Amino acid sequence: MSQVFVFDTNKQPLNPVHPGYARLLLKQGKAAVYRRYPFTIILKRAVEQPVLSPLRVKIDPGSKTTGIALVNDASGEVVWAAELTHRGEQIKHALDKRRAARRSRRQRKTRYRKPRFKNRRKRTGMLPPSLESRVCNVMTWVRRLIRLCPVAAISQELVRFDLQKMENPEIAGVEYQQGTLLGYEVREYLLEKWGRQCTYCDATDVPLEVEHILCRARGGTNRVSNLALACEPCNDKKGTRLIEDFLAADPDRLSRILAQAKAPLKDAAAVNATRWALYERLKALGLPVECGSGGLTKYNRIPRDFPKTHWLDAACVGLSTPESLNVWGIVPLRITATGHGSRQMCRMDEHGFPRTKPKAAKRVKGFQTGDLVRAIVTSGTKPGTYTGKVAVRTRGVFNIKTAQGTVTDIHHRFCTVVARSDGYTYSSRKEAALPPIA
Ligand SMILES: [Zn+2]
Repeated sequence: MSQVFVFDTNKQPLNPVHPGYARLLLKQGKAAVYRRYPFTIILKRAVEQPVLSPLRVKIDPGSKTTGIALVNDASGEVVWAAELTHRGEQIKHALDKRRAARRSRRQRKTRYRKPRFKNRRKRTGMLPPSLESRVCNVMTWVRRLIRLCPVAAISQELVRFDLQKMENPEIAGVEYQQGTLLGYEVREYLLEKWGRQCTYCDATDVPLEVEHILCRARGGTNRVSNLALACEPCNDKKGTRLIEDFLAADPDRLSRILAQAKAPLKDAAAVNATRWALYERLKALGLPVECGSGGLTKYNRIPRDFPKTHWLDAACVGLSTPESLNVWGIVPLRITATGHGSRQMCRMDEHGFPRTKPKAAKRVKGFQTGDLVRAIVTSGTKPGTYTGKVAVRTRGVFNIKTAQGTVTDIHHRFCTVVARSDGYTYSSRKEAALPPIA
């Protein structure tokens, strides 16, 4: 069961508790709600020298979604999990739009100015903004978790496959069968090398089998340079035939495959800059950071019969994964990065001309666009209770985006803040009733 984070009255993090116990504490008035997302309560007393059981933050960084799991290594219990959706695409889109607007403005207004050239240098090791935001999102959440509970270690999936484990993969003969750790490393390596598609017909999204380019029956070896990936029909069709024979009708593909089979995958393709940047920053937090490979994650996940989800992958990262991993009742918190508004002073039309007046104050009557509010409307034409994200208007009359649709023109005196806008939106699959606000 996803547990609830607990602070003592001095905001010292304590062991997370079962939601039932948290409910009891709230009901008895011994605690109050401190934060809605992730759900945190604060006790009304100080706890002297608490006995803490250390937790491990486990991260599976992805390009669109990152899985996060909080695991108690001693008991094998997953305490809390989340899936963090990044906004790389949005950032790229916004920057493209800005670039286009500036270009058109330069054409209109500064046509005779000499082009600038001395402002083009980038810091070494700089990530593009869309990737930087991914790393920052993960760091934000790791820091938050460290503040909320006793985190003693971090695990991160760093590389897709462990080249060290395969030693020189293109030369060494390897055991490629599934079920061995090495087998998973080899499979991941081949998936990357052959672009996750059938080598012979380019089929994607089908189960791919490891295929010997020169088949075993003719003396082909288990060396990685003799392995390719094929869909089942192609593998059957090829059987024990020679590849030259099999691809006689397609000499281009034949020569490409033979060349690619011999070429080892470049290191740059095996690791990814974002993950390394994240690794460096996690190390700087001062906690021990364990690294695992994607092959190891899969090796840990498959025998446990877990479906492939981001948070379960995260729970399976690294050699420290406990023998029995208890994930019962966990509903991951779905976190979506939204950013903190825009720096643009006024909106443009499609020609890049200002369409609106410059932005007014961000905060109106103590509310800000993006805050989660509850409005209990007692008078007027729309009586009722509405909960959702607010869009503020300088008039002091707001719009609230509820699950049922947007309600317009709600006066600020009816509204109470449930959770401040913090650059993320939240949901969980099971929509639980919110406990009363303290
Ligand atoms: Zn095929």
